[in-house]
Amino acid sequence: MAPTKENEDPSTNANEEWKKKAPYSIHEDGAGFKVVYEANCHCGRVRYQLNKEKPLASKFCHCTTCQTQHGAPFQWAAIFHKEDINFSHGHHNLEWYDPGEKSIAHKLPCKVRCSFCHSPIMDEGRNMILLFPTLINFKSEAEKRNFEVEMHMFYTHRVVDIPDGKPKWSGLSDDSDLIEDSPESAKKEWEKKKAEKKKEEKKKEKEEEHQDKKQKTDHKQNGENGKNEDGEKGYELRSKD
Ligand SMILES: [Zn+2]
Ligand SMILES: [Zn+2]
Repeated sequence: MAPTKENEDPSTNANEEWKKKAPYSIHEDGAGFKVVYEANCHCGRVRYQLNKEKPLASKFCHCTTCQTQHGAPFQWAAIFHKEDINFSHGHHNLEWYDPGEKSIAHKLPCKVRCSFCHSPIMDEGRNMILLFPTLINFKSEAEKRNFEVEMHMFYTHRVVDIPDGKPKWSGLSDDSDLIEDSPESAKKEWEKKKAEKKKEEKKKEKEEEHQDKKQKTDHKQNGENGKNEDGEKGYELRSKD
């Protein structure tokens, strides 16, 4: 049966759009794209280049999704902007998987693999991509060091202990707790951040409370001049009323 409008896959046309947008848009003949690294999947059908020496961050993720998706104890991910990558070959040989909805639709964030050998290529987020540096053909130890891992995430889900002295977060960094053999300096820094956050929250609470009170008593104070117990700040708040 010849294909008609009715039995055409409606997603086909929409799926063409991704080829024109980063990270999938191809820089023809490398136009203006400085090649710093080259990488490929296991079968070589998918090849890409990177134009930055260092990732924005490099981490090990021990979450159970990464363990299952990579068939490995943990994931090594390096974060780049979507504009930093150029698929020099076979970018149409890609497939997607959205672990949230367990679908193969191209819906962000999702996993991106070679559709032939199924090597994981990257995780595509809304603004960033998380590459897997094991695909990069490093030409020296120095190049590899540019991807040195700064921390471990979801370390509570680990299947192996890694006593490397690097910060270890129970979940996503910053939103979770530092655990295990995290370095003292990182622990101190985190305690400081936590205390500052608490102080900031308390201050905000106090300000809101104060504003509430002020709104109730302002009509009584209209005759007095500017300052209240909070000095300048209180005056500023008042003058905006
Ligand atoms: Zn492949
Ligand atoms: Zn993970």
